[in-house]
Amino acid sequence: MESGTAKYVCSFAIGLGLLCAVPVTAQQSGDIPEVPSQFKLDTKTAARLRPQLMAQSSAASRRYATGRIVFDRLIEQVRDPSQSKFAWQLRIVEDDQLNAYSSPDGSVYVESGLAILAGSSAGLWAAILSHEIAHVVRRDWARRYLYQKYLENGGGAAIVLGDPSLPSVSWETSEKASADMGRFGRQMELEADREGLMMMAHAGYHPDFVPALHHLLHARGLGTNSRSIYAMHPCWEERDRKLNHTYVAASIEFARRWPEWYASPGGNPPVVVFAEQPTVRKTGGSEWQIQIPMRCQNLAGAVEVVLSSGRAHQAVALPDRPESDGEPGPDVRQLTGCTSPKTTITFALADASVRPKPGAQWTDIYVLDSWGSVLARAELPKLPH
Ligand SMILES: [Zn+2]
Repeated sequence: MESGTAKYVCSFAIGLGLLCAVPVTAQQSGDIPEVPSQFKLDTKTAARLRPQLMAQSSAASRRYATGRIVFDRLIEQVRDPSQSKFAWQLRIVEDDQLNAYSSPDGSVYVESGLAILAGSSAGLWAAILSHEIAHVVRRDWARRYLYQKYLENGGGAAIVLGDPSLPSVSWETSEKASADMGRFGRQMELEADREGLMMMAHAGYHPDFVPALHHLLHARGLGTNSRSIYAMHPCWEERDRKLNHTYVAASIEFARRWPEWYASPGGNPPVVVFAEQPTVRKTGGSEWQIQIPMRCQNLAGAVEVVLSSGRAHQAVALPDRPESDGEPGPDVRQLTGCTSPKTTITFALADASVRPKPGAQWTDIYVLDSWGSVLARAELPKLPH
């Protein structure tokens, strides 16, 4: 989820007292520097912040037992003697938000909104936690720090850690981040996604839980919401696209290790719906056609495609079944088995049914499973006049 420890570390001045030159070879923003073995600022900073972070969170209790079980299982994949410096721990932050983050010491924090969203789904928990664990193992906080220092020195060949003349680093908002840092951050997110996917496959959680989680968050309006730290991250669609190769590799690995999918620790893979950008065109004086190309994975049965007058996407607490406002509207729901690799759903709307109510607009397409839970959301372009 969130880019390592950036969320909290950034608001603190970076600790001083270290003086060691670290050679950094010339690199483009896409190249992620290796962390020199003598670099300890990340673990020292984590140790300093740990009491505060612990005080703000609690151990994953019975309510979050699924998360704890999944966490332990994922850690088994990465634990080796050379990494024994990590004090792995899953912590819950009771603030109803939908973020997750990690600290270089191995503590992973999931905010309660996200924890409740994952609920009893081991696969969704694995999608959240594998990404955060990957940030820790890769020492992404340190990489980000080193890269920032490299930029501040104008791409110089060496950076001096702990130089008091360097400004303290703030990565908290995307506004402050330079374009280079933004690119670098996105690259690190994708790398953590990739490692997380393979970690999941090895541990027995189908990789499809990752897009399922992304789509669930997207349906709640995250990814474009600047108030969320997720704004720093590549949007879910871009992530899903760029991760395609790794999905395939991870899916093959999962199938090899867990031939009986239902018996894997995460159970059967979830239904995943990739809904593309809908197109709208005027087909007559007072008729419009809305088309939504979509692709479904692991679907047995049907999904319901709903034209919605929105509002819901602005709220984080999206009701599972979006309704315009409870009033019976025109028939703007369709069922589909979504059987072909690219299924196109078409809504043909005559003028009378084009507006959900006076002054309102159709804003979103929701795809729901047979229990009414949201699987995907796509935003509609404005209807042409
Ligand atoms: Zn992240």
